[in-house]
Amino acid sequence: MSRIRGKDTSIEVMVRRYLFSRGLRFRKNDRRYPGHPDVVLPKWHAVVFVNGCFWHMHEGCARHTMPKSNVEFWTAKLMRNRERDEAQHRQLQAMGWRVIVVWECELGKRDRRSRLERLYEQIVGGSIDGSVDDGAGGTGDGGPESPENHRRVAS
Ligand SMILES: [Zn+2]
Repeated sequence: MSRIRGKDTSIEVMVRRYLFSRGLRFRKNDRRYPGHPDVVLPKWHAVVFVNGCFWHMHEGCARHTMPKSNVEFWTAKLMRNRERDEAQHRQLQAMGWRVIVVWECELGKRDRRSRLERLYEQIVGGSIDGSVDDGAGGTGDGGPESPENHRRVAS
């Protein structure tokens, strides 16, 4: 009950409902895995995190703005969140899971349908595209991509 990530918020429910309606079966908030992924799909070796843009510091996202007061407190807290996320994703990937992150801002009315369809493809298609965490275990600090391009998949 005292977990940091808010569970069963509406966006998580929305994602689960969609995946279920597409015939996928999964476990929820499985505590055996780092970070308790919102959706665990053993059959597809995939885990899904549905992340709030504020708490998980979605970079370059309009919904992620630092509070005006207690800036230092919030910066430290949210940076910790993000570092923890990254560490957990790396752990999961090392365990052979594909880690897929869906951001709150991708689930707005306008983009929701296409994002959910893409999520489904990421899961069953097994594309590397579904694996986020830029550069983790890869060749280091990715190339000089433009920040705009980063928005879509970036960690
Ligand atoms: Zn966002």
